[in-house]
Amino acid sequence: MNPWIGKAAFLLGLFVFVAIRVPHDKRSKEAKITESRKGGLEATLLALMGIGGFVLPCVFILSPLFSFADYALRLLPFSGGIVSLGFSFWLFHRSHADLGTNWSNSLELRENHQLVISGIYKSIRHPMYAAIFVYALAQALLLSNWVAGPGCLVAFVLMLVFRLRPEERMMLERFGQPYQDYLAKTKRLIPGIW
Ligand code: SAH
Repeated sequence: MNPWIGKAAFLLGLFVFVAIRVPHDKRSKEAKITESRKGGLEATLLALMGIGGFVLPCVFILSPLFSFADYALRLLPFSGGIVSLGFSFWLFHRSHADLGTNWSNSLELRENHQLVISGIYKSIRHPMYAAIFVYALAQALLLSNWVAGPGCLVAFVLMLVFRLRPEERMMLERFGQPYQDYLAKTKRLIPGIW
């Protein structure tokens, strides 16, 4: 397949993903941040996400710099990428809609922060991270390059490793027993498994 088909699908996917977030981002800003645990590590992880999910793909799409790591785009991975993109859009939208103004792109709590355990949050504790993981997988399948393709996936796995535990600790400290019960009833990313 022509690699530009994969690149075009990726760019469209990135646009849709950002477009899903924008209205929720605006809405959540109405609620003031009352607690922030965003330190140097968090800032580094967010920057790595920007590099893996935006900078590396742009370099790959706009220049021949990574051409040494190109490979042929095939129909099966491409189709997998499209299906993954579609699923990630749905999950990203659902998790934003259910989390409402309690959303933040870092380790933060807002004024009148509510613990959300209904909707998609009834099935797993981190549906938004599951959506971003599937989106990052789509990037890896659509961009036929060993540097730009897996960029977001590598950065996001790092983010999961360093963010999940502190986020759950923060929620436990804020909400106590109700969050403890929620931990006991749900899995992190894959229903019934992990
Ligand atoms: N980890 C969640 C939320 C990502 S947004 C997910 O993947 O769906 C990150 C912020 O959401 C955290 O800083 C925390 O303030 C908030 N948060 C996480 N889980 C929450 C929950 N169950 N209810 C309310 N807020 C939550």
